[in-house]
Amino acid sequence: MERDDGLDELLLARYTSRPATVEICTDTVDRAERLIDELGWRSWYPVGSVRAAALAHESAHEHFHHRATRTALKEAIGHTALRLGRFRVLAHVAGAEEIAAHAHARTVCGLGRSPLLLTAALAAAVGAPGREN
Ligand SMILES: [Zn+2]
Repeated sequence: MERDDGLDELLLARYTSRPATVEICTDTVDRAERLIDELGWRSWYPVGSVRAAALAHESAHEHFHHRATRTALKEAIGHTALRLGRFRVLAHVAGAEEIAAHAHARTVCGLGRSPLLLTAALAAAVGAPGREN
């Protein structure tokens, strides 16, 4: 679903699970595309990659609504919260899903740098403290 009121709250896109929907803010996408040119970062972020990366990022969040995917991420991180003999409880690592979603977007879109860099630059450019969704 497209909306054009994302810049006020620096919202690029977001996933909501009920009902399963991805909202994409066309005004923020346009601002990010202009910023890429202003910063000379076009070789890292090709034309159209902001929208593509946002959709890939939110699709990663959708995957994390499935227990198997969350478990796979915890196993990949391998941080142990508790060990009792041969039993091990894997820890939740704050922010891990967000970092994984950015990494997923970078990989599937073939970007030269993480979308996290662009997100930070966008927050600085529009004078907002920055917000992840
Ligand atoms: Zn996110």
